Amino acid sequence: MSRSVGPHTADRCPRCSVEAVQRGVPMTVEGCDVICYRCGHCAKAWTRPVEDDLEVYDIVRVDLHDTTLCGTVWHVEDDRIQVRGSGGEWLLWAERWRVILY
Ligand SMILES: [Zn+2]
Repeated sequence: MSRSVGPHTADRCPRCSVEAVQRGVPMTVEGCDVICYRCGHCAKAWTRPVEDDLEVYDIVRVDLHDTTLCGTVWHVEDDRIQVRGSGGEWLLWAERWRVILY
């Protein structure tokens, strides 16, 4: 990856395989914190659990509102994660639910 700051990364729908940018919505289902996605093509809805075992130096993807970033976990707090871009180009805090382990 030549740039660590790029556009959104598309996800593939588990039912129809159409790839699209998914804006996940955090919610609680049966006591578990999950992120809910919905396919704009076939209306399939699915969830992924919030990552609860992130550690420093893990490689992660961060789904921000306006972009998708890839970086390294730098600090871990209860509900937020600090992520560092390759070479230290950027350093940001993101809500834990936005961070996906690679
Ligand atoms: Zn679909």
